[in-house]
Amino acid sequence: MARADDTALFEAVRAADLRVAAIGWRLATANAALCDRTEAGIGLQLHTLDQFDSGRREAARAYFGFATPVAVEGVLVGGPAERAGLRADDSLVRIGSVRIAELPGRPGTTDRLVAAQLGIGALPPEARIEVDAIRAGTPIHLTLQPMRVCKSRFELDLDGGFDASADGAMVQIGSGFLDDYPDSQLAAVIAHEFAHNILHHRDRLEARGVDYGLLAGFGANVKYFRQTEVQADLLSVYLLANANYPARAGVAFWERFGPSKAGGILRSRSHPAWRDRVATLEAEAAKVETLSSRPLVPAVITERGRPLDGDWQSILIRHR
Ligand SMILES: [Zn+2]
Repeated sequence: MARADDTALFEAVRAADLRVAAIGWRLATANAALCDRTEAGIGLQLHTLDQFDSGRREAARAYFGFATPVAVEGVLVGGPAERAGLRADDSLVRIGSVRIAELPGRPGTTDRLVAAQLGIGALPPEARIEVDAIRAGTPIHLTLQPMRVCKSRFELDLDGGFDASADGAMVQIGSGFLDDYPDSQLAAVIAHEFAHNILHHRDRLEARGVDYGLLAGFGANVKYFRQTEVQADLLSVYLLANANYPARAGVAFWERFGPSKAGGILRSRSHPAWRDRVATLEAEAAKVETLSSRPLVPAVITERGRPLDGDWQSILIRHR
């Protein structure tokens, strides 16, 4: 049996994972038209027994009922999985051609979870998907209709503090933000990181020979980093508006975060001063608020095939 403190922890982690997943899903569905890399979205947050450390694995198995190594941590409201009738704690046998038992996994890792996510994302976005699962010991069969969404994973980092990052395929956000900020402001942080991926910033920085590492943010690289930061801020306003979040959510976030927090990637030298970022976000939100059509597709999207030119000054608005 799971101890009471384990179950409280399990439910707290589930709630936090689902909060990040729901925001990511809302952004990834509403902005599909802005993404040149899309995939089959089913609106399912998965977890794997492998990811629990050995001290909690048996408690997790008992609590979540893992009849297979990958189970539904939660379904996203209004998504294909929910509409098809999948529920939290259903254990997955297969989703389309993705057979859970055949996925490689190791204890203490999320290998099998990532393999499942990638396999599901690679399914054809237009075709119906047959799902076999086990619910409370009983096999069930469902059919779901996926939708085309931006290709991106959204992940909570429980040890991540106030760090947020984007590696081209994934957005990762530290749990510190969840404790201190409401959903719309959390969405602003996630939208900024998501914007880096939509704009292929990592690839475009690498194409410029920019190195990620201790010296990132210094020397000749600064202008390229800053250009990507300002571009991500600008695009984030549109991503938020398209997903029906307040266009000014980023402004509200920075007005609270800027004065209070030191350190972390959001304050590194590669980033412009936060008051200038607020001024830039404000000006873009003011433009967006005059436009009623959705989705809005800003110029920075159509320019993403071009090499970075390092011009961040002309797109940053200075705080006065
Ligand atoms: Zn950034």
